[in-house]
Amino acid sequence: MSGSSTLNTTESPVAVFQDRPIFSCSNCSAVIALQDELISKAFSGRDGRGYLMYSAVNVKMGKKEDRSLLTGVHTVADVFCVGCNDRLGWYYHKASDNTQKYKEGKYLLERERLIKENKWKLDE
Ligand SMILES: [Zn+2]
Repeated sequence: MSGSSTLNTTESPVAVFQDRPIFSCSNCSAVIALQDELISKAFSGRDGRGYLMYSAVNVKMGKKEDRSLLTGVHTVADVFCVGCNDRLGWYYHKASDNTQKYKEGKYLLERERLIKENKWKLDE
């Protein structure tokens, strides 16, 4: 679960996780991430609550840019669904603040853009 794997999400093959709890795109139902990849639900997205994830699939990245977030300036890239081009959140390339470094290489996905499928047993 460390961030050592090489990220190559620009042209991801369509991944299917059978019978595993997953997040799907709320618009086109493409699989976006495994529940296992969830780090925290206590994040803020641009439009509401967000999920911090170790990884995501079936997404493509927008342009890298510096953005001022609640926790300081981060170099991020917006993340889009390959199925419908909906913006799902962003990817943390770099955090300027040392206390925020753990986010680097992770994804922030907007809760409103995701639906949960398969065997979810979380409280909300
Ligand atoms: Zn989609």
